[in-house]
Amino acid sequence: HKVSPFLDPGPHTKSGTLAIVALSRDNLIPVYLQDSKGAHDGYAEGVVVNTRYGSFPHSTLINVPWGSQVRASNVDTGSRGRKRKRPEGEVGDAEEDAKDDAAANAIKQAATASSGFVHILPPTPELWTASLPHRTQVVYTPDYSYVLHRIRARPGTRIIEAGSGSGSFTHASARAVYNGYPKDDGERKGKVFSFEYHETRFEKMKNEISGHGLDGLVRLTHRDVYKDGFLVDGESPEAESIFLDLPAPWQALPHLSRRGPDTEEPIAGGEKPWVSPLNPKKSAYICTFSPCIEQVTKTVSAMRRLGWVNIEMVEIANRKLQVFRDRIGLHIPTERGANLTPANVAEAVARLAEIEERFRDHNKTSGSGENSSTPTAMDVDTNGDVPAEGSNGSSTYKIWKEGRLITKGEPEVKTHTSYLVFAVLPREWTAEEEAAAFARWPCGG
Ligand code: SAM
Repeated sequence: HKVSPFLDPGPHTKSGTLAIVALSRDNLIPVYLQDSKGAHDGYAEGVVVNTRYGSFPHSTLINVPWGSQVRASNVDTGSRGRKRKRPEGEVGDAEEDAKDDAAANAIKQAATASSGFVHILPPTPELWTASLPHRTQVVYTPDYSYVLHRIRARPGTRIIEAGSGSGSFTHASARAVYNGYPKDDGERKGKVFSFEYHETRFEKMKNEISGHGLDGLVRLTHRDVYKDGFLVDGESPEAESIFLDLPAPWQALPHLSRRGPDTEEPIAGGEKPWVSPLNPKKSAYICTFSPCIEQVTKTVSAMRRLGWVNIEMVEIANRKLQVFRDRIGLHIPTERGANLTPANVAEAVARLAEIEERFRDHNKTSGSGENSSTPTAMDVDTNGDVPAEGSNGSSTYKIWKEGRLITKGEPEVKTHTSYLVFAVLPREWTAEEEAAAFARWPCGG
């Protein structure tokens, strides 16, 4: 199996893999990098990513260390600032023409200025969730990180997921369960068994999963799970974790029992004995994801009937915190003028001059006027010292000179996405297993 860039991107960007082009924190473009062999007419430099910060031929994005800042191309790629050609016979519309002109000019200007840059990042489930093409509502990072923790997804876990939708949860769960690609060495490999009944969505997901190198880790099945359950090629996925993002989870739950949908007893004499999709040796941990409370009550009552325990509902109320340093916040003690001594003022002025000098130096080297390499919390060592720029860490300056640390919260929590229902289906424990366990006790047997 080809190794997925989601699991091991390697040190450099490569042709033929997915990369995330970051224009800003909230503006991410997923791009399949292609060398210029994939070029087509009208492009002087192979395939090009056009953005409002300029144009970026793939040739400038390939074979650079992940995380690199890449500057816009100076070369005319021939594709920029081209006005949309009106198809013959189409009736003119002045407003539309004006819009076309404005868009073409904006792109042309950006291209001419060529001052912009982007960062090129390796794909992660978080970045993919923030940039993926939406085919459905998706599960976002604050929800799926909590869900994966609660359903005990870890390397080696087998997860059942339905429906696949846009694949946001699928990517996060694939990373969580990854413990190496399946080899025929008998070791139990983590795997995601994902089900989707919408044909177009299923096909799109299939292409994405294979384009992302996740074929060995994610098994997609085109299936109506309400009707046909969760076996794959007639075999049990032997799952111990389940995530249902479906309109009617209670219709899927009977297929997730241990002994068959309609009876407490093993089904005897049927065409085939009923096979459970669950791991018989482990308790099963489930989460269902539903926007309405009516769906929750139906799900909970089905769970109770089917023997699930520890049933609990949680809602994630996500609030973003912005943390930054306030550079203007130089503190000069001025209380009633008492501390406003010439020495204090002189010290503050000296600090200000030092900071100014740093920024001048910085702008000289970066040229963009953007503080692209301003130290972040990660650069800070335990003394609050940061390696001085261009010094290979040989001298340091104090981070507090960058200003006071400020934390700002969003005034409101984000609007409701969904209710999460969690539950556990205990493993079965037979009389034989009890006897075997008892026999192993030092005083038993
Ligand atoms: N969790 C997904 C994500 O993070 O991208 C989004 C799932 S989307 C909200 C729900 C999906 O379930 C849809 O794609 C829908 O086609 C699928 N679905 C609905 N009923 C289904 C069924 N009975 N069997 C399989 N898939 C079903």
